[in-house]
Amino acid sequence: MTGAIIGDIAGSIYEFHNTRDYNFPLFSEGVSYTDDTICTVAVADAILNGKTYKDSVLEWCGKYPHPMGCYGGGFSKWLRSPDHEPYNSFGNGSAMRVSPVAYAFPTMEKVLEEAGKTAAITHNHKEGIKGANAVAGVIFALRESPSVDTVLDVGNTYYPDFQKREYCHGFNETCQGTVPLCLKLVLDCTSFEDAVRKAVSWGGDSDTIGAIVGSLAEPLFGIPEGLEKKALSLLPEDMLSVVKAFKEKYPVR
Ligand SMILES: [Mg+2]
Repeated sequence: MTGAIIGDIAGSIYEFHNTRDYNFPLFSEGVSYTDDTICTVAVADAILNGKTYKDSVLEWCGKYPHPMGCYGGGFSKWLRSPDHEPYNSFGNGSAMRVSPVAYAFPTMEKVLEEAGKTAAITHNHKEGIKGANAVAGVIFALRESPSVDTVLDVGNTYYPDFQKREYCHGFNETCQGTVPLCLKLVLDCTSFEDAVRKAVSWGGDSDTIGAIVGSLAEPLFGIPEGLEKKALSLLPEDMLSVVKAFKEKYPVR
């Protein structure tokens, strides 16, 4: 899950002002956690403390109502709605927040079941569920077998031939536009930092591409200590304590 947070922070200032420069400064002035981190922490907190995913996401987004980059339009409406019913979304929000699930449950079957539940509170469209399942499924498999072949094998069960597809650099905030792209980006990487750089400098929805690719690259490469330290130093105390407790209880391997 820390991989998602680092990718989100690194991409935060480029979401609406894209960079195509691979050598962009990773943590330049003004970077911040965004909704991707808030929702990831909410999922981790739900798992750690026995809250429902819905209650936890509402609680954390309520605590942080105005993150950098704001919440997406549909999600904002959901936050403000009286009954918080799922709205059939297939936005990439279900994929960017799901990573903690892949560390907390013992079998692929259970991981996918829980990933589906984290999505279904808002993103109950089949593509929304699929995006969450694909990311959680690949991360879970990578923990066991950290190789590019794992990404290919598991990724292809969700998005056949994702590695051969053409992707555009424009803004696409759907699961079906974002998740297969993120899987493909991870295939050519040589390190965690390389993955975050390729993700953010792809353009488009930079912070979310950063978050998803970061979450996939974490079990594949591990995270350099300095990067993790720097990113976590940018989190408020309440988020940090969830991240620390989660990592202690559910190590990457
Ligand atoms: Mg964001």
